[in-house]
Amino acid sequence: MSFSELGICPEILEAIEVLGFETPSLIQEKAIPPALDGSDIVGLSHTGSGKTLAFSIPALECIDPAIRGVQVLCLAPTRELAVQICREVEKLALFLDGISAVPIYGGASFGPQLAALKRGVQFVVGTPGRVIDLMEQGELNTDNISMLILDEADEMLDMGFQEDIDRVVSMLPTERQTLFFSATMSPAIRSLINRLSQDPLEIAIERPVLTVPTCEQSVYEVVFSSRIEVLSRLIEMGRMKRGLVFANTKRVVDDVVDGLLARGYSVDRLHGDMPQTLRERVMDSFRKGNLNVLVATDIAARGLDIDDVDIVVNFELPRDPEDYVHRIGRTARAGRKGKAVTFIGRRDFSLLARIERFIGTRMQREKVMTGEQVTQARKEALVDEILEMAASAHELPEELRDIEMPAEHLMTAMFNLLLARNGGELQDIPEDRPNRHARPQEPGADAPAKDWNTLEDSVTLFMNGGKLLGIKPKDIAGLFYNEGEAPKGSVGDIKIFLKHSLIEVTPEIAPQIVEKLSTCMICGYEVNVREDKGRPEGGAPDRPSFRVRDRRTDSYAGRDKFRDRERGFGSNRYRGERDDFRNRKPFHRRADSPAPRDNKGSDGFYKRFSKSYKGKS
Ligand code: AMP
Repeated sequence: MSFSELGICPEILEAIEVLGFETPSLIQEKAIPPALDGSDIVGLSHTGSGKTLAFSIPALECIDPAIRGVQVLCLAPTRELAVQICREVEKLALFLDGISAVPIYGGASFGPQLAALKRGVQFVVGTPGRVIDLMEQGELNTDNISMLILDEADEMLDMGFQEDIDRVVSMLPTERQTLFFSATMSPAIRSLINRLSQDPLEIAIERPVLTVPTCEQSVYEVVFSSRIEVLSRLIEMGRMKRGLVFANTKRVVDDVVDGLLARGYSVDRLHGDMPQTLRERVMDSFRKGNLNVLVATDIAARGLDIDDVDIVVNFELPRDPEDYVHRIGRTARAGRKGKAVTFIGRRDFSLLARIERFIGTRMQREKVMTGEQVTQARKEALVDEILEMAASAHELPEELRDIEMPAEHLMTAMFNLLLARNGGELQDIPEDRPNRHARPQEPGADAPAKDWNTLEDSVTLFMNGGKLLGIKPKDIAGLFYNEGEAPKGSVGDIKIFLKHSLIEVTPEIAPQIVEKLSTCMICGYEVNVREDKGRPEGGAPDRPSFRVRDRRTDSYAGRDKFRDRERGFGSNRYRGERDDFRNRKPFHRRADSPAPRDNKGSDGFYKRFSKSYKGKS
């Protein structure tokens, strides 16, 4: 079947041709015609099945370009997915005049999103929390919405968005078409479908088997600045005789290669900017075994004949689950054993869950190997090598014949010499500390930790998340010291409440903590730290206040920044806090400060990460 047989308009067919898609995928073939006819659809299909096109095409076709207002609302669980969907919609709308789309998600400033809505954008792809905020503020007018799409509904329910979805739907016109996509079906999803739609057409697409069972997949939680060291330890332990390391950008590829070269390993790079001849040369070297490690981007590795490596390391988690499958498919070929190791940071948990859902396998969580473990593994490998060589080494070299010394002494000296010569130097990383987040025992109810630092002068910070998320004082301390780069002794009492936590820090360090943690995740949720002003009803305690230097605008921003982040929550677990916050007097941005820009995208994360990584390597 071809796309032209599905009843798609010529403008979108032209865009599909530009995109290079030749035949519709199964979900597209089955869902597009009935959706174009106005049916409600339930598509049970996984990421990678082509579902985005399957709902975006009918959605674009139902838009009237003459109406400058939101006509299609698509809800997605994460900002990454919202942005990704929006990109596909924009590509499909290439030849449709007067139609535009915008992603709307929390954690970013309202400015650009409001501007798009004011311009009359027709296709909104958003995360539930921010969509509710804009609807309630009257900025997102729902009068013209004729189509609601729920993408990855199972993930939205898993993330606790059920109430938010119901709230959004309660504000939509009842006369509308609903397209509903989920990778799995459960009673909760069935009940959601029944609430949102009447007699929808159900289309189920079988998931192909994606990964090979002989590939052992594991995950290490490692801060970015420790990753070269952990990679080196994998090499030192003899686990990377022929290893392929993937990074998301060529800049990180360069950084990893430079870091490993500086430690004396035989390593080279492969990325899209390299001329073909050079790439071939590198490939050749790798194939011949002259290189132990090849570091590559996804694009560079695609279409190249690199397989049968004994380990694949994901230095960074790929953003697209399909890339993960491509990456690890380079090992464990033809029934052989292979290993895939993935490094993740604290903010990668939701993406990891997405990949695991996509491949249908849970990866093994592993602890970073300690220096002692590395040394032990090297000793064992050396003994193996010596024994192998000893099998054919029967003659004592002439130079050793006249030495009068017990054989054990000589052997010990040789062993130590070889060990010292062959091994690289290990560096200390935060992951080495037995309990790097070690802090006092979690206090009972909301009592402060006992032997905590007593700070003479302090401000109290509010952080989202508390006992309900299983957060412990050590988690917060770890976050503040590692990600927030708080100097030793600058964190005081930590009180964990049901839904939030209060942390005392020294006044000088407070702005830095707020800024540095603005891109972090804890227990899979976006961290929101701000100065605690107490409950509005109960009268705010009188505490010293601070202003936060806003790196986006290079101006001092006030509570609007906090407010933005607060409103970034999607989970209804936080609804109580968010509502508390809403009751407060709104903060108005200083008239003289420039409009905030969005720095919360992956580039923002990347810049922050690469900075800390560069600093350490
Ligand atoms: P999705 O399931 O929407 O996440 O799509 C997965 C990937 O498949 C995306 O990168 C799309 O660009 C791509 N894709 C979607 N439809 C087709 C098609 N008919 N042929 C080839 N690739 C497609």
